Amino acid sequence: MNSLITRIEGHIDTLSKFTATPGKGTTRLTYSKEDRLARDYIKEKMKEYGLQVREDGFGNIFGKLEGTLEDAPSVLIGSHFDSVPNGGSYDGPAGVIAGLEVAALFAENQLTPKYPLEVIALIEEEGARFSGGLMGSRGITGLLSEEDFKNLRDKDGISPEEAMVKIGLDPSLPKKRDFQTIKAFLELHIEQGPILEEKNIPLGVVEAIVGLTQFEITVEGQAGHAGTTPMERRSDALVTAAKMIAQFPTLAIEEGDGTVMTTGQLHVYPNGANVIPKTTVFTVDIRSSKEEHIQTVIRKMKDLIESYNGDGIHISARQQLYMRPKTMNQDILTLLKQTSSALDLPYCSINSGAGHDAMVLSDFTEVGMLFIPSKDGLSHCPEEWSDSRHLANAVQVFYETAKKLTEAEEK
Ligand SMILES: [Zn+2]
Repeated sequence: MNSLITRIEGHIDTLSKFTATPGKGTTRLTYSKEDRLARDYIKEKMKEYGLQVREDGFGNIFGKLEGTLEDAPSVLIGSHFDSVPNGGSYDGPAGVIAGLEVAALFAENQLTPKYPLEVIALIEEEGARFSGGLMGSRGITGLLSEEDFKNLRDKDGISPEEAMVKIGLDPSLPKKRDFQTIKAFLELHIEQGPILEEKNIPLGVVEAIVGLTQFEITVEGQAGHAGTTPMERRSDALVTAAKMIAQFPTLAIEEGDGTVMTTGQLHVYPNGANVIPKTTVFTVDIRSSKEEHIQTVIRKMKDLIESYNGDGIHISARQQLYMRPKTMNQDILTLLKQTSSALDLPYCSINSGAGHDAMVLSDFTEVGMLFIPSKDGLSHCPEEWSDSRHLANAVQVFYETAKKLTEAEEK
């Protein structure tokens, strides 16, 4: 157990060094130099732990331990390895590390699985570079088409394919994965909230993941001189956006049941101190554990847009992402709970307020998910921290679970 904790801390420390903002948290955008460095480290560890490594046409990484059954589907374990700007060291990497360490335990105990074990490290879950998010999992399941993938652009107008080639990846490799090749998916993630820490429980077994949708709203007005255009003659795109955004919290609170609504990104054009804003583009992120709440908030947001249209202002909304709330697989849930009890690890059931790759994959395979406590409930910031002992506990649970799912036997 101690060597496991030491290895986990080594992985966390090393991966956290691959950041574009040293001293100011982890900034690891997809297909960046830091992505390349983290990728090389993950691939090196996969090989060290006896896995066969391959990448797909999105740059997702797969490390496979073959099973004895021919053409059998794999049990996947992993998460994503990109980050938000100035994020922490655990969101994403903790889950990839859990996968790596399960593979290490398979190697250490010389297990031969019947069904292959695959450690996976997915790209662009956060959507910090190409927006939308969950790109690796949406890509392999075909929810993101090759065409849509090709047409994405980052804020500098760079396409994913151009960015891939720049760090030596091959976008022409196969992209969509045949579902027949996947038996189950296990994901460990930090909770990113305060519940487990408050309850002093080391492990959360995720029952459901909230649904979410993201919109990009564009407000078009009329540019003009900040000094010479009278107030009543203006069609100010930023003032209109601000009025709308200020009403979103009320929409979410009225809906209740933990429904949340956020504008986290806003761009103003031409963005000059003495120019009336012509265009404002901002994001809206809506989440709830019940689909009807998401639908109602979308409808109310569209009514709001209608009410501000006209008088030189034109507003359009583009939906970039829609995921229904998802429940996890009952058999795997039971297995995770039984395993935790057998290992004497206290656990509780929990819902996830954040979207995860597990949510995407749950439509295509049997999915199980574990949470570990987040210190002070913080995430997406440099202060993000989880205890390596908690991570090691989760590795033990996944190891036992993966042994059952892969029907592994000791030599
Ligand atoms: Zn994450």
